[in-house]
Amino acid sequence: MLTAIRDGYIVTQNDKREVIRGDLVIQDERIVQVGGKYNGIADREIDAKGDIVMPGMINTHTHVAMSVMKGVVDDLTFGDFLDKVFKIDSDRTDRDLDIGTRLGCMEMMRGGTTTFMDLYYSEDVIAKATMDAGIRGVLCWCALDEDKTTQTGNPVDNAKRFYEQFKGSRKLIPSIGLQGVYVCNEETCVRAVDFAREKDLPLNFHLSETRGEVNDLKKQQGLRPVEWLDKIGALDRRMVSAHSAWLTMNEVRLMGAAGMSVSLCAVSNMKLATGGVAPVPEFLQNGVNVTIGTDSNNTNNSLDMFSEMKIAGLLHKSARWDATVTPAQQLLDFCTI
Ligand SMILES: [Zn+2]
Repeated sequence: MLTAIRDGYIVTQNDKREVIRGDLVIQDERIVQVGGKYNGIADREIDAKGDIVMPGMINTHTHVAMSVMKGVVDDLTFGDFLDKVFKIDSDRTDRDLDIGTRLGCMEMMRGGTTTFMDLYYSEDVIAKATMDAGIRGVLCWCALDEDKTTQTGNPVDNAKRFYEQFKGSRKLIPSIGLQGVYVCNEETCVRAVDFAREKDLPLNFHLSETRGEVNDLKKQQGLRPVEWLDKIGALDRRMVSAHSAWLTMNEVRLMGAAGMSVSLCAVSNMKLATGGVAPVPEFLQNGVNVTIGTDSNNTNNSLDMFSEMKIAGLLHKSARWDATVTPAQQLLDFCTI
């Protein structure tokens, strides 16, 4: 199967970040020509005259099945928001998760996202709907302490079973995630990270989204979340931490030394008014890999990566009083490479 996309503006995202006008040719699943004119015969012709042809975007933090909750939990305090979401969530059926996933996948593909990283329970239901949709999914079954969950059985064991069920799927990476240090004790964190290391899997988790969760852990453990994860041996390059808006420089340095990635969720943080701005310039200076996530449709009302790039950029410029931070090319890099 040969596809020729004709006469577009190709945003290559190559080392020189060139934008080239011309044809892009795909043989089966491989790009075989970028730019110039393709004179051969194609099985499928796409006229992209005047359009942008660019790499698919990667949304590194969402809860796709929550797309059915778009617009139903707005303008609430963080506490009221959590109460209402928990109430809706506890009544939901597999069919609701299936419909939510299909809606979310459709929305992401329409907006140019070709891969997403999900954090949720019942990822087996989400996996089937994701495969039907045809988008790539890195699906992290959410682990937390057994006495704090509505999941049946032990969440880490559930994640392991999910991995065994879907490993080797063509467009899926079944994996494990963590809800956050506020509901994950040392044993849960270490078991989840050990599993990610054993199978070499990415691990999505919430980290320092609110000031309250940081203060609570400090009271319990005498350490901030990243310091505590470092102490228990759970910091790892496979980790992709969402939000990460309440950090000290020491924590940023520890994350960089571990080779971690962060997923900026600017719109979600603003919608829930959790305060804090993820320290992007410091992440980059210290070797933390920066990516962008939308978070779920109930904390964003959109899974659109273009609006996420725009708002993340504006938030950082405004917070730093510096129009040069987070330039457009850098934001596109966060979403694509
Ligand atoms: Zn989240």
